[in-house]
Amino acid sequence: MRTAVVVGAGMAGLATAGALARDGWQVTLLERGERVAASPTALVLWPNGRRALEAIDPDGGWSAIVSPLPDGGVRRPDGQWLVAPRARPGAGPGPAVVHLEDLYDALVAGLGDRVDIRTGFEITTVRTGRAQRPSVGDGRTYFEADLLVAADGIDSTVRRALAPEAAAVGSGFAAWQAVIPGYRVPDLPADQAVGGETLGAGYRFVSMPLGERAAGRGGVYWVATAAGAPRPEPAATQLALLRRWFASWHAPVGALLAATRPEDLVPQEVRELRPLPRSYGFRSGTGGVVLIGDAAHAMPHHLGQGACLAFEDAATLRSLVADCPTGAALGAAVEEYDRARRPRTASVVRQTRRMSAVVQARGRLALRARNAALGSLRPRILGHDHGLTADWQPPDPKTT
Ligand SMILES: Cc1cc2nc3c(=O)[nH]c(=O)nc-3n(C[C@H](O)[C@H](O)[C@H](O)COP(=O)(O)OP(=O)(O)OC[C@H]3O[C@@H](n4cnc5c(N)ncnc54)[C@H](O)[C@@H]3O)c2cc1C
Repeated sequence: MRTAVVVGAGMAGLATAGALARDGWQVTLLERGERVAASPTALVLWPNGRRALEAIDPDGGWSAIVSPLPDGGVRRPDGQWLVAPRARPGAGPGPAVVHLEDLYDALVAGLGDRVDIRTGFEITTVRTGRAQRPSVGDGRTYFEADLLVAADGIDSTVRRALAPEAAAVGSGFAAWQAVIPGYRVPDLPADQAVGGETLGAGYRFVSMPLGERAAGRGGVYWVATAAGAPRPEPAATQLALLRRWFASWHAPVGALLAATRPEDLVPQEVRELRPLPRSYGFRSGTGGVVLIGDAAHAMPHHLGQGACLAFEDAATLRSLVADCPTGAALGAAVEEYDRARRPRTASVVRQTRRMSAVVQARGRLALRARNAALGSLRPRILGHDHGLTADWQPPDPKTT
């Protein structure tokens, strides 16, 4: 039987482990955490991410856990429009917002009973070679397989062994996320309930409704970003700081921050890989190693593409290895995965960096340039009918 070891039970690892198992692979999923758990935040799934999830698991029930994301436009802190909202066309899956815990629940359900999950197992050693099946271990126990999938995030141990040139670096800003449960959300007038994006000088605030659905967790999700390093203070102090920074911003920013409790706050430093790995696929023994998700292409969150690309990775890998025998064919599929994914992800990373520079602009001239660029850059990347996120389609399964 074809065997795979997946390192990391984040979104990339869960999606890939489930997809491989459904195609008949015997999968072991290794996670260093004591349990598989999502942080209590949310995520935007752009059309590419939604299509990828459908390709990975058509029975995943994805549409039951997401809420459509209306175009809330982009505003200045005083409420004036930088980019006015636009109705989305009806065709194809539109962007949607999903509570991360609902998404994890669905991904875990997709593992079925054919994935052997080992939690509390941190891999520290990676072994590969032309004549050796890839293996990983913690110094005492080793797991070897035909296919090793590195889904161990931005600080990936597997990537550091195989592509040490890719370094995890700070992007120059910090982010705070929270989901406020429905009963605490202020009663917002219809035009504010839609959410949207607001850009100040070096600051950004985005909010979106999760809706109230029988199948999922509701409330309002917000994410704030500020230039600079992450704050060392306790959560309550950080929340007080956020309320001060955003105090004069248009409604409902202040109301959402007022309804947030310190225990809701998920602060983090925004980091990325620079440069990207020279390859995402490495032959080894009867198959090889692939890098997926943040292990391959961690990037700032301004386009909301990190997880969407991870699902694209998983869908692409699945299409390449679904019917692939081990040996030379699997080695070739691993290299094909690299050819399929590196140009696509490099292009999204490039656009993300441009958008990050634009939305985090400070200074009068930079702000003026930002405002001018937004109107053209945004539709090109996040366009409703065309663009980086609307145009991607999952590849057809390869038959060998
Ligand atoms: C503020 C913010 C907002 C974002 N918004 C969006 C959005 O709207 N849309 C979107 O698509 N993306 C978004 N992203 C990006 C997205 O969150 C990430 O791209 C995604 O979580 C990456 O998933 P992953 O599975 O690759 O990595 P991770 O989530 O980091 O998972 C890696 C897993 O591997 C495990 N692990 C690590 N090392 C080891 C080891 N040595 N041994 C065993 N296990 C190990 C970890 O414990 C973890 O469970 C956002 C990011 C940020 C910071």
